[in-house]
Amino acid sequence: MDTLWSSMVKRKQEITFQKNIFLWVRVKRKVFLGCNMSSIVLFGPPGAGKGTQATAIMGKTGLPQVSTGDMLRAALSKGTDLGLEAKEYMEAGKLVPDELILLLIEERLKEKDAENGVLFDGFPRTIPQAESLSKITDVSMVISIEVPDENIVERIVGRRMDPETGEIFHVKFKPAPSEIKNRLIQRKDDTEETVRSRLNAYHSQTAPLAGFYQELGVLKIINGNQNIVDVTNSIIELLV
Ligand code: AMP
Repeated sequence: MDTLWSSMVKRKQEITFQKNIFLWVRVKRKVFLGCNMSSIVLFGPPGAGKGTQATAIMGKTGLPQVSTGDMLRAALSKGTDLGLEAKEYMEAGKLVPDELILLLIEERLKEKDAENGVLFDGFPRTIPQAESLSKITDVSMVISIEVPDENIVERIVGRRMDPETGEIFHVKFKPAPSEIKNRLIQRKDDTEETVRSRLNAYHSQTAPLAGFYQELGVLKIINGNQNIVDVTNSIIELLV
């Protein structure tokens, strides 16, 4: 009993310490760097609909979307060193090492449109990424879109993209018009095997971030297993 009590007290002290550190970093950033960024994080498993919902949030808040997945795919198609280094991790459904991701983020946040904060999509995905992020920008809200694993697999494996317009379709839920069906492509990491591996990475490395942000009092949970418009409306309610 004593041990349980003392470990609870210790945990409480750790949380208070962590909160004070965050407060200190926040004050330091504002006072010494004159930096007043405040960002929103879209959080959830791959295929939860973060990209789709980002469009609605951008419209409401004016924050630019920063998707590390999109940035990595762009780096890969340009053939940059970073893109080539990330390739094997992405194709295996594993997380790209934190150092590479943080390089991308640091560069992106130097751009003019990011000065008042951004909408992160798919970042942070590990505790070290979240800790580094807290030194660069305030996170005012973390919107966690929850969807059960089996629905995720069905959503991702059936996902197809029109390479000409970038529009996303689904073989069952949103079939493409017959005239463009033949040109649709499937992302290399959208196979069932890779999706299962991405879900494993999510549960072991990313899901613990929910507790991290819960303790900081900024986590909001949304049921992502409803139609897109209902998910959007639940998110918009959080933003007003
Ligand atoms: P996404 O499009 O967000 O599902 O990302 C596609 C892939 O890019 C992931 O499966 C990872 O391999 C990699 N990736 C994207 N964002 C991150 C991140 N923040 N940390 C590590 N790997 C990432």
